[in-house]
Amino acid sequence: MGSPSTALPGRPDRYLFQANPDANPGADPDANPGADPDRFRATVRDWLADALGGEFSGLRGVGGPGREHEAFDERLAWDRHLAAAGWTCLGWPVEHGGAGAPLAHQVIFHEEYARAEAPARVNHFGEELLGPTLIAFGSPAQQRRFLPAIVAVRELWCQGYSEPNAGSDLAAVRTRAVLDGDQWVIDGQKVWTSLAHVADWCFVLVRTNPEQRRHRGLSYLLVPMRQDGVEVRPIRQLTGTAEFNEVFFTGARTDADLVVGEVGDGWRVALGTLAMERGVATLGQQVGFARELAALVELAGRTGALDDPALRDRLVRARIGLEVMQAHARRTLGGDAPGAASVSKLVWASWHRGLGELAMDVLGAGSLVALGETYDLDRWQRLFLFSRADTIYGGSDEVQRTILAERVLGLPRPARP
Ligand SMILES: Cc1cc2nc3c(=O)[nH]c(=O)nc-3n(C[C@H](O)[C@H](O)[C@H](O)COP(=O)(O)OP(=O)(O)OC[C@H]3O[C@@H](n4cnc5c(N)ncnc54)[C@H](O)[C@@H]3O)c2cc1C
Repeated sequence: MGSPSTALPGRPDRYLFQANPDANPGADPDANPGADPDRFRATVRDWLADALGGEFSGLRGVGGPGREHEAFDERLAWDRHLAAAGWTCLGWPVEHGGAGAPLAHQVIFHEEYARAEAPARVNHFGEELLGPTLIAFGSPAQQRRFLPAIVAVRELWCQGYSEPNAGSDLAAVRTRAVLDGDQWVIDGQKVWTSLAHVADWCFVLVRTNPEQRRHRGLSYLLVPMRQDGVEVRPIRQLTGTAEFNEVFFTGARTDADLVVGEVGDGWRVALGTLAMERGVATLGQQVGFARELAALVELAGRTGALDDPALRDRLVRARIGLEVMQAHARRTLGGDAPGAASVSKLVWASWHRGLGELAMDVLGAGSLVALGETYDLDRWQRLFLFSRADTIYGGSDEVQRTILAERVLGLPRPARP
């Protein structure tokens, strides 16, 4: 059993794992019940069934891409409930407040979480992106300051990378930070900043050396969101909701020591964060996809769409696509096979976008009508519209194909302006 003495004070130690199970292969499973995958799965399943049966029962299936506005405060309370029971940051090392869970157990947790239809988490940016980045690149003082608040879901984060002219071409970032005494002063604009309107902090890629071009001269700053120099303007989307924002920094300030890594080394840190973007949550995401497909088949039975051989064929193809995706994820998870992450992103994004299109065809002409009072979309209309974004965020299709062309196939780079 992982040593509770090294864990974060206050973190329940029920689910701590041996950091290295091989070090003690004959360990008595009763001494470390979390280590046995089947028992662990049963523990997770029972806990979720119990937790979602009580005051949180109304949260099943709530939230997620395109639906982040749903029951936000209740989902925040749910995340804190998970934290109090020791279910956040499972894969983080114990010395940083995590549970030290091996990959297989993290996968099990995400699978069971999706299967239970537990609500979409509100702390993705802290737990999946910034936390692991601080563990890899942060100073001990930064780790002590920020990691406990992520584990306990006391502070929420957002990601300030993209700008109006720096999306796929991230090295073109122009937001500037200038040192003024013991603080950085930040000026510039970010865009598409998901959940900035609820975040307490933002990890921001800024230019600290205007003399240097492209990826040189960038730094990775941690900036408090609740200050006069930060203005968040929501962007209303096709779905009618506004889950991402423009963020304007006008003389915003943060402490000089809140730069992650060295000043000027922000590109390396930013890429480190991006590499964490496609983690074990992928398999949980696919359980969610499987549920969506099952619901769509059921809908097709009700609308009569199953009488249409073309639609039947597309439903079967969707099922095959799901199997391929799952097989790819299981084969490559945790490894570093060249191009695997790009293949995975391309496959799941176009599969999910295709599912949205298929849902519209299953609904037929009815898909064109919003039945609510004011642009109130149903789950299928929302899926169709939001899944258009799947092939853009986290690296667009074109960017992924370029990575595969150049880094895996070794094709020559075309001339670039
Ligand atoms: C739902 C959603 C959430 C997001 N959340 C965040 C967030 O929280 N924080 C954040 O910083 N950003 C966020 N983004 C922004 C996202 O990272 C960018 O949209 C993405 O990097 C693409 O950048 P862009 O929108 O500027 O498009 P562009 O880079 O302008 O691309 C436009 C089109 O041109 C293509 N293209 C661009 N360059 C090339 C090239 N060299 N070769 C071939 N084709 C090319 C692209 O593939 C795309 O089709 C989010 C985006 C979405 C959709």
